[in-house]
Amino acid sequence: MHNIVCIKQVPDSAQIRVHPVTNTIMRQGVPTIINPYDLFALEAALGLRDRFGGEITVLTMGPPSAEESLRKALTYGADRAVLLTDRCFAGSDTLATTYALATAIRKIGKEYGPANLIFTGKQTIDGDTAQVGPGIAKRLGVGQLTYVAKVRSVDVANETIEAERRSEGGVQVLHTRSPCLITMLEATNQIRRGAMADALRAARAKIVKWSAQDAGVEDMSKCGLKGSPTVVKRVFAPPARAERAALVESAEQPAQALIDAIFLNQPKLETDLATLARDARSGLSGQC
Ligand code: FAD
Repeated sequence: MHNIVCIKQVPDSAQIRVHPVTNTIMRQGVPTIINPYDLFALEAALGLRDRFGGEITVLTMGPPSAEESLRKALTYGADRAVLLTDRCFAGSDTLATTYALATAIRKIGKEYGPANLIFTGKQTIDGDTAQVGPGIAKRLGVGQLTYVAKVRSVDVANETIEAERRSEGGVQVLHTRSPCLITMLEATNQIRRGAMADALRAARAKIVKWSAQDAGVEDMSKCGLKGSPTVVKRVFAPPARAERAALVESAEQPAQALIDAIFLNQPKLETDLATLARDARSGLSGQC
């Protein structure tokens, strides 16, 4: 079994600030991390390798410094890392990003064996569009399972997979064919501590570095700024909220009185909750 995990190096959003005058993101001095959602994807792939064997290739498109994130992924236990890096990718929006990544995934398939599953995170914490996973699937012409919480089983011989997909009001159990692409939800597992052997291997590992040409990009006009129809009109920090959370915990007041107070202050809450509960029930009855 060969699974590919797409990871993106992102600025640690907990430390990112928007310039109050220019409204541009201030990246200077902000440490980079692996996009947290991608760690859930990586752990899902590692768990499958524990059960079914095989190999995991991690792939990122980014500047040369993204090598650091790939090495980190190797310390968690990934077998191989591919860095797709080329000046012509600069300025890529999601359309151009999916073109480059899908091209590299095809090349990985030729070099190291076709992928059974391709994993991405649900979304990134910087771009935040959640478009890249579905875009790659479309370009590769494979099926996609989005918002996956758990891969229940994989039948490698019969090329099928069963996964749990979290949806509003319930969980869908989906059965489909592989190869397919999975976008992994947050809080679905916990990335393992890498073994010492993996840390040592990661430090010395050769990262496979591909330019656009190495990866087999045929149409340069689909890369980078040239291939990116998206135009960012404005970036701005949302105004701080005026409302403050009210402290409702109180040793003196009994819980029922507090609950009554909450409903009294929010007259629509009871109907909203009833609607939510009704939707949840109808969603669950629609399980497949
Ligand atoms: P999402 O769709 O939210 O990501 C979903 C998942 O896809 C991730 O969890 C991850 O698994 C995978 N994924 C996403 N991106 C990558 C990647 N690069 N490699 C591997 N896996 C990935 N960003 C830059 O860094 N440099 C630029 O120069 C740049 N220029 C831009 C110019 C324009 C006009 C626009 C609109 C955007 C630009 N961006 C740039 C941002 C860039 O478009 C997005 O970061 C990128 O396309 C991914 O989109 P996203 O972050 O919303 O990913």
